[in-house]
Amino acid sequence: MKITGQLVCGPGEADRYLEETLREFKRLCDDVIVCLCNAGPKEKKLGIRGSITNSITFENVEVPNENVIGTDGKGFLVAMNTLDAGRLGLGACCLGASKEILELSTNYSKQRKQFGDTISKFQAIQFMLAEMAAKIYAMESMIYRTAHNYDARKEISQESAIVKLFCSESMVEIADKGLQIHGGMGFSRELPLERFYRDARILKIFEGTNEIQKLIISRNVIKKNGRWSK
Ligand SMILES: Cc1cc2nc3c(=O)[nH]c(=O)nc-3n(C[C@H](O)[C@H](O)[C@H](O)COP(=O)(O)OP(=O)(O)OC[C@H]3O[C@@H](n4cnc5c(N)ncnc54)[C@H](O)[C@@H]3O)c2cc1C
Repeated sequence: MKITGQLVCGPGEADRYLEETLREFKRLCDDVIVCLCNAGPKEKKLGIRGSITNSITFENVEVPNENVIGTDGKGFLVAMNTLDAGRLGLGACCLGASKEILELSTNYSKQRKQFGDTISKFQAIQFMLAEMAAKIYAMESMIYRTAHNYDARKEISQESAIVKLFCSESMVEIADKGLQIHGGMGFSRELPLERFYRDARILKIFEGTNEIQKLIISRNVIKKNGRWSK
């Protein structure tokens, strides 16, 4: 089979690691198949700048028949199935970052004084912390539940779409609230809040945009006449 096409990916500085990886592969097994692709220039991004993103292009890359995953022409289905785990993992990333933001924001609110008191004494700040904590509890609960079902090899397409949608929307909201609690300092590069705020935005886009997650979820809801049977 021959493949030709383009992907947005994170090969980053792959050539730097290729030689070492090949050496390690050769040590572990005799048959080494290398799939060469062209990497485009680094994308200039709003966030996740610690991870390099470029497009990669395959031009007439030959894949031996025995190495084809699934059936020729059905690759889309295989790719879609891998997304279930990816979306679950994305939810876990959102959860970890959200917990860090809550901790940073709580500590800051207990130190920062305005009008003679720490801002943690103001109900407006307390309510933001409470809303962040409630979202985190919901995120953690759904991630563990879905991960348990994934480990039990159950079908989790709808649940992982819900995890992806809810956790990414929650993290964007939590990053926004965390930044707000930090006031002007939240906007400054001196503190990590502005980075969390920028990094959060991509979570609503990759691993399938949140609009696509809504399509997956609603398709299942309509198919089951709205009955919740999980
Ligand atoms: C930093 C970064 C890293 C990435 N890493 C990878 C990677 O490692 N591997 C990989 O394969 N891809 C990667 N991607 C690609 C990413 O998965 C896609 O950008 C994403 O799936 C959205 O596709 P698109 O950009 O073509 O947007 P489009 O599909 O053009 O969408 C544009 C808008 O239209 C909406 N839309 C599209 N179709 C519908 C529809 N049917 N109904 C309703 N609304 C719709 C979308 O929700 C969105 O709001 C990466 C992208 C970025 C920015």
